[in-house]
Amino acid sequence: MRKLTIIGGGFAGLTAAITAAEAGAKVTVYEAHRTPGGRARTAEGPYLINEGPHALYNGGPHWTWLKQRGLIGPLASLPPAEALRFRIHRDGALRRTPPLGLLRQARRTAAEAPVDVDFRTWVTGLAGERTARVAAAYSAVALFHHDPGSLSARFVQERLHRAACLPPEAHYIRGGWGRLIERMVARAWEMGVRIETGARVDTLPLGEGPVVVATALPAAARLIGDPSLTWESGRTVLFDLALGTRKGDPFVVSDLDAPGWIERYTAQDPSLAPAGQQLIQAQLPIGPDASKADGVAHAERLLDLGFPGWRERTVWRREAVSQGRTGAVDRPGTTWRDRPAVDRGDGVYLVGDQVAAPGVLAEVSFTSAIEAVSLAVRTELLDLKRA
Ligand SMILES: Cc1cc2nc3c(=O)[nH]c(=O)nc-3n(C[C@H](O)[C@H](O)[C@H](O)COP(=O)(O)OP(=O)(O)OC[C@H]3O[C@@H](n4cnc5c(N)ncnc54)[C@H](O)[C@@H]3O)c2cc1C
Repeated sequence: MRKLTIIGGGFAGLTAAITAAEAGAKVTVYEAHRTPGGRARTAEGPYLINEGPHALYNGGPHWTWLKQRGLIGPLASLPPAEALRFRIHRDGALRRTPPLGLLRQARRTAAEAPVDVDFRTWVTGLAGERTARVAAAYSAVALFHHDPGSLSARFVQERLHRAACLPPEAHYIRGGWGRLIERMVARAWEMGVRIETGARVDTLPLGEGPVVVATALPAAARLIGDPSLTWESGRTVLFDLALGTRKGDPFVVSDLDAPGWIERYTAQDPSLAPAGQQLIQAQLPIGPDASKADGVAHAERLLDLGFPGWRERTVWRREAVSQGRTGAVDRPGTTWRDRPAVDRGDGVYLVGDQVAAPGVLAEVSFTSAIEAVSLAVRTELLDLKRA
């Protein structure tokens, strides 16, 4: 391939850029923001908060690809004592052990789950309503939806299985995902990729070689001029806190009464906050009619139980609603194959985490980026052959 234009310099755009440059293409990336990374950026100090992803799942296809290129870098590992501070919120109280039914359900693979039936109905038939409820709530950590039980059983089971397996698949980049992005940008530069930042594209540069649209789906729909390019995603309140350190604070509080997750990220990576402080993020999926205040109130109830004195210890806080930014969710009767296709025709390719590609969360951005570049290369080879 001679020339490739990429619009969007997030995880998907950078994956496509490196892959195409490795195939010999002359690549230009246009990124609207002043720095690349998109949702995978990490805030500048003093609190190194990931704007989006925290976990890099080692069972995903991106893991090997990043590893082969030396891009993963140092990982933050959880001290064994911290791992023991995993708390479950169930029936209104914090507990140390998850229900057995949840563990049994999590052992099932996605292939065992039907596509056409919702998760709640499927698990209720297998293990009862209570297990269905707690398993759905736990799965929310990897799908960010307020009602996982209503989604396709296959979709939810894949996320539950991967989020609850042992040893854990979730790994953490030391210093945050921003460090991974920096390494990807450096690799792209080495390969000769031109990255233009602060460069918003408003019209597709057609007729100048293949174009990969690597923006979030609503922006891609505008650029491509196709309002039918939509897919459902979650709505989640993100509540970030910096607290004065207190020995004994939990590492995680997972709410099994209603989807909700609180993680103290400095447990595995103290470099994310100044000495004497710890960084916590609460993720509370909310329904379409709920408000940010509802999500924050949910977080505060869990914090009251798990983090004694958190109000007095708070030195900084931030609340936000993340709408449509946490990847695709699939309703019963649909799979990733039903989402907007990668190949849009006329040399235009669509990539990101709400398109027709397999994987969990950012893995969808990764697999669609690889797919787009292989399709573009194949088309170019066919054109050359014809010429
Ligand atoms: C709260 C939260 C938690 C998450 N947790 C995880 C996790 O633990 N693990 C995981 O794997 N994933 C997680 N994700 C998902 C992950 O963040 C995304 O799947 C991934 O970052 C998407 O990357 P992308 O490149 O497809 O899109 P984006 O990151 O959105 O990148 C798109 C880029 O396009 C640019 N752009 C947009 N319009 C234009 C234009 N017109 N011209 C030029 N540039 C443009 C944007 O500025 C942006 O940089 C999480 C997401 C959120 C929000």
